Amino acid sequence: MPFLTAASQAHDYDVIVVGSGAGGGQSAYTLAMEGAKVLLLEAGRCYTPATETPMFQTPELAPLRATGTPQKPFGFYDATVDGGWQVPGEPYVSASLADGERFEWWRARMLGGRTNHWGRISLRYGPYDFKPRTRDGLGFDWPLAYPDIAPYYDRVERLIGVYGSNEGLENTPDSPPGCLLPPPAPLVSDYLIAQRARRLGIPAIPGHRAVLTRALDFRGSPALLHPGNPGAQKILAEDMRARTACLWATPCGRGCAIRANYQSPTVHLPPALASGNLDITTDAMVHEVTLAGDGRASGVGFIDRTTRAHHHVRARAVVLAASACESVRILLNSHSARFPQGLANSSGRLGRYLMDTVGSSVSGQVPLLESLPPLNEDAADGMQLYTPWWLYREQRAGKLGFARGYHIEFGGGRRMPGFGTAAGLEWLTAGSYGARFKQDVRRYYGSFVYFDGRGEMIPNDQSYCEIDPEVKDQWGIPVLRFHWRWSQHELRQAAHMQRTFTDIIEAMGGRTREPAQSDGARAIAPGGSIIHEVGGAIMGSDPASSVTNPWGQTWDVPNLFLTDGAVFASNADKNPTLTIMALAWRAADHILDRMRRREL
Ligand SMILES: Cc1cc2nc3c(=O)[nH]c(=O)nc-3n(C[C@H](O)[C@H](O)[C@H](O)COP(=O)(O)OP(=O)(O)OC[C@H]3O[C@@H](n4cnc5c(N)ncnc54)[C@H](O)[C@@H]3O)c2cc1C
Ligand code: SF4
Repeated sequence: MPFLTAASQAHDYDVIVVGSGAGGGQSAYTLAMEGAKVLLLEAGRCYTPATETPMFQTPELAPLRATGTPQKPFGFYDATVDGGWQVPGEPYVSASLADGERFEWWRARMLGGRTNHWGRISLRYGPYDFKPRTRDGLGFDWPLAYPDIAPYYDRVERLIGVYGSNEGLENTPDSPPGCLLPPPAPLVSDYLIAQRARRLGIPAIPGHRAVLTRALDFRGSPALLHPGNPGAQKILAEDMRARTACLWATPCGRGCAIRANYQSPTVHLPPALASGNLDITTDAMVHEVTLAGDGRASGVGFIDRTTRAHHHVRARAVVLAASACESVRILLNSHSARFPQGLANSSGRLGRYLMDTVGSSVSGQVPLLESLPPLNEDAADGMQLYTPWWLYREQRAGKLGFARGYHIEFGGGRRMPGFGTAAGLEWLTAGSYGARFKQDVRRYYGSFVYFDGRGEMIPNDQSYCEIDPEVKDQWGIPVLRFHWRWSQHELRQAAHMQRTFTDIIEAMGGRTREPAQSDGARAIAPGGSIIHEVGGAIMGSDPASSVTNPWGQTWDVPNLFLTDGAVFASNADKNPTLTIMALAWRAADHILDRMRRREL
């Protein structure tokens, strides 16, 4: 029986994995498929996308026409069934609430974590992204290079299914043949944005998202992903075959009952469970990693959220993937006489160098897109095209005033009308009523375009988390206190985004409601709000200045691993999740190898 309560768990496992999102799902998948006995502990409730996904529900069937509320900011049907900006009974503290110093933390407490509703944007880091300090003297180099991780990007893309194209652009890696699925057709608004952006020297190429635009290669991929393991190949082939291609009609943020996009509970966990090697206990709130007398991790302590009972479970190795900050919190709370400042923290770097993505947005209205004939533009639900960072030469020459790049996620189109479709048109209509208002709504519907910048933040000493000395959550577990600061690099980058996006809209013959914001401090989104938080337990090549080695293995405790974003030594403009999964697969291979050699 793979879903277990605390009472029915086996006594010993090879590996305990904490957290079932991108990092935990990938870790559990690789370990279980390759024969390790794995226990996955997940703090949230069990979640079954096949029966719980509101894929086809229309807005009028929901309260407030499904519009966003403080409890459900992404709308009533959003896949986050438990959690969000606040988790009831589980607070966190921002050391400052001042603009630019506040940190916001999105947590999804459910099987699969944030992978149930993430944007599925899946970009590889490029060669420069692993060696930023070598290039410009800022931040940290990773203790690995692109060729070390490239084979794992290949595997993850083949497993989860990522559409995209190879364009041969600088620091924007191509994938080997067979890894990527074909990209979807762009929308009319995408074509127009791309045409006008290119006139400004700004590229626009197919996006990369974890959405199946056609069936997966269930005949070829299993042997490449699990060489020499016919049992795993058979399980995976059957599972891949059962996944259906996208039907271009429903918002991915609600989840996908037909398994056409990547969610950990629809892609990683089913084959891992079918292997017979994976047990899962949900509602298991892990609060500490326990240490044996020999200095190795002996297991973890957790609280059953349904009974409030405390439990301990043992394993040969422990993998933390509770999301970057939560894994750091568990380690900071696992203090002992040997590690008074938190487990695996002999460097004093645990909690340090927290990073998010730099975000800034502009939207505009484009007369050329008005009154187009009705057409279903639901498409792949985002990022048909995007703009990778393109100003490497200018940046190298010191012409930009900031050190790192950003990519542009843009879009438009006409999706199912909702609560706010006709709201806020007054700046265009001067306030119309009755029949004139209806004409205006039809005219303007679908004529808006939006641009979101996603830029690299350089790690700094003022952005970190620590344990708050007073506040505890409802389980009695001390909570995190966040400190946050942007540098001038991020602020100038945000102002550059504003100018660029406004230029593109103007090149489309469009208009923005407000002028471009030239003050970066006003243009930048709050820390954490882009939900790409990484760092806090960075990897490195020196135990004195980093928490883990290049395999996510803590320097201090040899059988303790981190496989979420905590180990990131930089936060390139590329969204982090594909890299989390590639690193998790690499770490799992390392664990399996060391277990086979009886070193763990
Ligand atoms: C709206 C939104 C859009 C996004 N879009 C993108 C995108 O397009 N591309 C991209 O790359 N990234 C995107 N992200 C970010 C992406 O979701 C995360 O990078 C990714 O999910 C991180 O994986 P993880 O495994 O580290 O954490 P999570 O997915 O958060 O999983 C962590 C799991 O651990 C569990 N857990 C936490 N604490 C404990 C504990 N103490 N004990 C046991 N279990 C615990 C949690 O309940 C959760 O299930 C988006 C996120 C959001 C919210
Ligand atoms: S758009 Fe496609 S992948 Fe996304 S939820 Fe709908 S069917 Fe699934």
